[in-house]
Amino acid sequence: MKVLGIDTSCDDTSIAVYDGEKDRVLSNVVSSQHEFHQPFGGIVPEIAARKHAENIDLVFQESLQIAGIETKDLDLITVTRTPGLLPALLVGLTFGKGLSYCLSLPFKAVHHIEAHIYSPFIEKRKEIPDKFLALVVSGGHTLMFLVEHPFKYTLIGKTLDDAVGEAYDKVAQMLDLGYPGGPVIDNIYKNYFGEYVQLPKPKVEGFNYSFSGLKSAVKRLIEKGYPKEQLAASFQKTAIEYLLGKLKKAIDYYKAEAIAVSGGVSANSLLREELLKLKEKGKKVFIPDIKYTSDNGAMVAFVGYMKYLLEGEDPLTISAAARSILNSN
Ligand code: ATP
Ligand code: FE
Repeated sequence: MKVLGIDTSCDDTSIAVYDGEKDRVLSNVVSSQHEFHQPFGGIVPEIAARKHAENIDLVFQESLQIAGIETKDLDLITVTRTPGLLPALLVGLTFGKGLSYCLSLPFKAVHHIEAHIYSPFIEKRKEIPDKFLALVVSGGHTLMFLVEHPFKYTLIGKTLDDAVGEAYDKVAQMLDLGYPGGPVIDNIYKNYFGEYVQLPKPKVEGFNYSFSGLKSAVKRLIEKGYPKEQLAASFQKTAIEYLLGKLKKAIDYYKAEAIAVSGGVSANSLLREELLKLKEKGKKVFIPDIKYTSDNGAMVAFVGYMKYLLEGEDPLTISAAARSILNSN
């Protein structure tokens, strides 16, 4: 079964072709809009939607071409329906519904966070554990779930204010480093060998997080004239230590044997390095291939395919939603 996966939830127009039986990604095209949002220091929803509309057909054609298939070879259309920027989501959803209708193909709507959660298992479907602890660290979310496969979620922790990726982007903006901030700050950290400044790790209850205090602390130190590199590197050190500290507590508390970390921030070099140490201690640790950390169509096709087999198709009347919590089902 050749599955088309579409994601236009944020600022990347992404379309992939996934072979369900072979568990192989045949193509994964991502057209990034970063340069158009850069001057604004964040994503402008109207610009995102306009660029998706301009690009989506080209991205679709390229995705088919790389996969070496034609439109008639497709068997299933899967699209991110929620959560995300509403005008942006609507472009992909409408395009997917149009394809499904014109080609008389089944249609499956996908929850973007569910796609991130399962992204470490793309092309490793047989390795999905029955139970795992999932940490999603992206631009809009910082969430911890206990997952019982297939697709049963219990939320055990979340950020009470900014998402960790958002904190990266805001700190980068304050330091005038450009957008998105994650890769730039990560790069500075890798090349920084000086001293670190002490930054606060907010104490919030349970397995919840808070990143806004950390961001404000960086702001105060900018005003005091601390060097950019030192602040960027110290921010990364603190943010990742904080993420990992709570993750390790949750692993102990829930006696988790398998852990899956996903989302844009899971591309972070320090986070990946530290997660490998957990692996050496005998835990099963799953992290996505770098190309599946940020938004991509492959994760949508992967989850859409598995859910289609389990639940069947969705009606074309299903609508987009800017927000929605991933419920246990
Ligand atoms: P969501 O999935 O919550 O709707 P999103 O789709 O915008 O949000 P992703 O594409 O998963 O988020 O991730 C983008 C975020 O990842 C950005 O905030 C970016 O700064 C961050 N990021 C990317 N690479 C790195 C890195 N190496 N280190 C830290 N953060 C990174
Ligand atoms: Fe995302």
